[in-house]
Amino acid sequence: MTTNRTDVLAATLLLTLFSPATAQLTAIRAGRLIDIHEGTVTTDQVILVEGGKIAAIGPDVEIPDGADVIDLSDAVVLPGLFDCHTHLCYTVKGGFNHTNQGEMGFREQFLVNTLTQPAAYRALVGASNAREVLKAGFTTVRDVGNACDYADTALRMAVEDGLVPGPTIINAGMIISPSGGQFPGELLNPELPGIGPHEYLYADTRDDLRKAVRQNILRGARVIKLVVDDQPYIDSVGETAFVVAEAGAAGLKVAAHCVTEAGARHAIEGGVASVEHGFEMPDELLDLARERDVALVGTDFPADLWDAQGMPRPMAETRSEKIVDRLRRAHEAGVTIAFGTDVFFPVAGQTRGSAALLFTDSFREAGIPPAAILRAMTVDAARLLGVEGERGALGRGMAADLIATPGNPLEDIDALREAVFVMKDGEVVRDDR
Ligand SMILES: [Zn+2]
Repeated sequence: MTTNRTDVLAATLLLTLFSPATAQLTAIRAGRLIDIHEGTVTTDQVILVEGGKIAAIGPDVEIPDGADVIDLSDAVVLPGLFDCHTHLCYTVKGGFNHTNQGEMGFREQFLVNTLTQPAAYRALVGASNAREVLKAGFTTVRDVGNACDYADTALRMAVEDGLVPGPTIINAGMIISPSGGQFPGELLNPELPGIGPHEYLYADTRDDLRKAVRQNILRGARVIKLVVDDQPYIDSVGETAFVVAEAGAAGLKVAAHCVTEAGARHAIEGGVASVEHGFEMPDELLDLARERDVALVGTDFPADLWDAQGMPRPMAETRSEKIVDRLRRAHEAGVTIAFGTDVFFPVAGQTRGSAALLFTDSFREAGIPPAAILRAMTVDAARLLGVEGERGALGRGMAADLIATPGNPLEDIDALREAVFVMKDGEVVRDDR
């Protein structure tokens, strides 16, 4: 069979027409590139991106003819960031009422807000927040519930289908908790028994717990979120271990909300993957977390972020100091720290994404070096989320999730707030150069 010019032309045309756009080669010139494992910078690197993944990376990588070239010679390039504690499908509407600052006011507003935002609205809130966190440089998040009737699964699917921009989402589905969820009993009208379970899966027995885990997996959860201790009655070590086993059998990890010392102890002894918040952890409990390889997702609110929740300033500062002390002790104890924020309310002058970056203030105050903060925001977070083989560091075969900043975050972590470029799975999602 002979091939003539017309055939070749036709074949070329077909290839051009039907090659997926992702097959296009993109070459990034990185003036400075952060090695996230080593906490060092290399200069004049080339990153070759094909099909959303890194095809080659190094100083001697040749840029093939026809490749799109993105010139970040003047910038510092590093992996996309992780936030291991988001509530993308929930924002307190209008913010907390600063004139009603008691604990009760906060809780009442939380209840009213969750009641008045149905799942369809939550999904749209999620789409808005997903775009904002991605633009701020967060290319992967673990979303830990408060999405009403699985709006988080809908959001994850919409992002995966390319319908809306957003990070890679490891979502929790509905939060599992003892009866009452995170609502105070006195606010729940017993004549309206559906009020709590619209937001939480109540589980008080092992049958309940097994059913709740399975329902979440069936409805698209990729992680299980267990609220251990927001009621006077808390999950036991045995109950926590039961959830860990049930989730683990299906390949899911467990993130445990723990705000009391007993709750954190039960969660760690029960074998969860991470303690969320962990505001009450003495040294001995931090040591136990390290021994059992339980990560701390500290949601380390700086005072301004308590303030934004309507907390009076002196209380906000006291709370923040306590958290910074716990963060310092956790770092010194060698606990794996994975960055997680917990922003679910508007913060004046900030987007959902830029507000999340403010949490590095607490890390700096705790004396944690920038290299360790960056590991908490990338590789260590990726390991907790079980995506360390694909995301969290820049290397051959890894997803092309990366950001670029004018300043060097290894010298000043605040440089992250000045990100000018964000790439997600090889697609440029922000370029403000
Ligand atoms: Zn939270």
